[in-house]
Amino acid sequence: MSRVYNFSAGPSMLPIEVLKKAQEEMCEYGSSGMSVMEMSHRSKDYEEIIQGAEALVRELMGVPDNYKVLFLQGGGSSQFTMIPMNLGSKNKKCDIVVTGQWAKKAMQEAKRYITVNEVASSADKTFSYIPKLDKSTFSKDADYFYICMNNTIYGTKYNTLPDTGDIPLVADISSNVMSEVMDVSKFGLLFAGAQKNLGPAGVTLVIVREDLIGNEMDITPTMFNYKIHADNNSLYNTPPTYGIYIMKLVFEWIKSKGGVAELEKINREKAKILYDYLDNSKLFVGTVAKEDRSLMNVPFVTGSEELDAKFVAESKKAGLVNLKGHRTVGGMRASIYNAMPIEGVVKLVEFMKKFESENA
Ligand SMILES: *Cc1c(COP(=O)(O)O)cnc(C)c1O
Repeated sequence: MSRVYNFSAGPSMLPIEVLKKAQEEMCEYGSSGMSVMEMSHRSKDYEEIIQGAEALVRELMGVPDNYKVLFLQGGGSSQFTMIPMNLGSKNKKCDIVVTGQWAKKAMQEAKRYITVNEVASSADKTFSYIPKLDKSTFSKDADYFYICMNNTIYGTKYNTLPDTGDIPLVADISSNVMSEVMDVSKFGLLFAGAQKNLGPAGVTLVIVREDLIGNEMDITPTMFNYKIHADNNSLYNTPPTYGIYIMKLVFEWIKSKGGVAELEKINREKAKILYDYLDNSKLFVGTVAKEDRSLMNVPFVTGSEELDAKFVAESKKAGLVNLKGHRTVGGMRASIYNAMPIEGVVKLVEFMKKFESENA
């Protein structure tokens, strides 16, 4: 087996311990005589898996009792519809900060159902920073206030959350979930597609405050209604059973590492190694405002498209793969999610130094 260091933005690396455990249990889970993939979602064995996964989310993220934890399908993108349909029925209005493509897509989708107040945007500088917010631009009667907390494509992250008072704060945490400690009680709703930091594509984790459930618009499809999934413990229909199982293994792995706070320490260390190098390099430059830098997605450029392409090609040969930047940004991007070990980042920086000395 020869595994590479995979810097993909998503689907992305999973811990090798998780893959090995899944391999061990692939053909028979416990003494069930079957694979998790072949199991009824109503079976006792599966019940233990999904309930165990939920308990671990609650434990690892410190989810308060008045929040539901849901495992849904449709990816992060379906939440762009579910959120306005379920949370926007009262005043039919929300506030959104546009910090990149994912927030923009969420805004476009919300506009199909409700009035959207674009509070601020960082489009003027290719989303390379998080805009400073002026509270006087917030709607007093918004049903919710929406942010994308970590911007996977551009590599920015909110280091201070907007103060929205009584208006529920809704955050897309697809690319930074469980990478740093978060106070769930500060949010009305959090969601994350699994394929960045939690597991395989196909599951979306939603954490939603109970009082925000059950107010859906009449047109809401049954499968897009949080109440249906909450009342049925995510077993209204067949959930993405195998994906939830892998997620549970990832949660167990996080716990074995000492939990989210310990992972955050490692993630800060990893990001520091890379940013410190970028700040001192004569060839590579980080593209993001320093105070808004993401711990998970690190975009950088050489300033020459030719050299960027050469770097991507040569790094791949060295076993450092998927470093090409997003198609809309160009350059490079290293995604260093929870499963990327420090050694991967050290190897990357060593390679960058070598490349710099040969090409600067
Ligand atoms: C990847 C991503 C999405 C989209 O997720 P899908 O599961 O592909 O729909 C949404 N938001 C953020 C921040 C992402 O990184």
